[in-house]
Amino acid sequence: MSLTNNKEEKNMLFLEPVFKQMIWGGNRLGIDFPYQIPGDDTGECWAVSAHPNGDCMVKEGSFAGEKLSELWEKHPELFGHVDSDRFPLLTKIIDAKADLSIQVHPNDEYAMKNENGSFGKMECWYILSCEENATLVVGHNAKTKEDLEAMIREGRWTEFIREIPIKKGDFIQIDPGTVHAIKGGTMILETQQNSDITYRVYDYDRLADGKPRELHVDKSVDVITVPALDASDSVCSTLGLPNNKMNLLKECEYYRIWKICVTEAITFEQEYPFLIMSVLEGEGLLNGKKIKKGDHFILPSGFGEVSIEGNVEIIASSVR
Ligand code: ZN
Repeated sequence: MSLTNNKEEKNMLFLEPVFKQMIWGGNRLGIDFPYQIPGDDTGECWAVSAHPNGDCMVKEGSFAGEKLSELWEKHPELFGHVDSDRFPLLTKIIDAKADLSIQVHPNDEYAMKNENGSFGKMECWYILSCEENATLVVGHNAKTKEDLEAMIREGRWTEFIREIPIKKGDFIQIDPGTVHAIKGGTMILETQQNSDITYRVYDYDRLADGKPRELHVDKSVDVITVPALDASDSVCSTLGLPNNKMNLLKECEYYRIWKICVTEAITFEQEYPFLIMSVLEGEGLLNGKKIKKGDHFILPSGFGEVSIEGNVEIIASSVR
């Protein structure tokens, strides 16, 4: 391989986000973050995505203009030849101005069979900001499948829904089968399997364009885990983690997630098939290249030594 090629492969892949307008969306992606948003109902920034519903384009360098899905197909060497027919992860920033619907995702097995070969969705949230005394919906209070079905079909929502307190910097794992909802006033960074399959259990009887959004009650009842996991098994605080190192927040079948707060220069080896990075606060330099709040990029396989300096907070992820 020529030197030029080597050099090209070591480029950071900066990505252009794709924005989604939602009935529950707001304008903070254009205020708290430096994005040009399409409207005051912008709910999601698909920051690192190769999903057909929002396929990010490379911003600069030798792959400028290419979609992440195309790179995955044409240049498996950039991603450590990971064995998957599609880019496995999806990173989003969510601005919930209003409550999101109460929802649940299927696992791979159920989605493959019932959703045209789609992946299921394991996801996790890092809380970027929320109001004082904020909560999220994680889990439910039904003890048996019969209980669950009765509560849902009879609309006993206050009895059914389990809310947990959250604060900035909390990290929450949402396994497939977990009832969940992000509540208004909360911004999160979500890392998930590359999937867009959501079963809506309850939408507060809201109307979108004059009509209620579709519910998926039967599929929800199929996939919801009963009883729910204990809330303390899925939530942890990241405050107090040491600065200037990669702090592993979660390792599961589909992904590894790290939090990195840089306050003095750090150096480590990019030893993963690829490493996704989202800059959530501050600015700095990565191997001499400027990085700042709102940037999302991938360090490809073989990137080598990574040096970061400045004052930045980063959530990083890779496959397991
Ligand atoms: Zn979800």
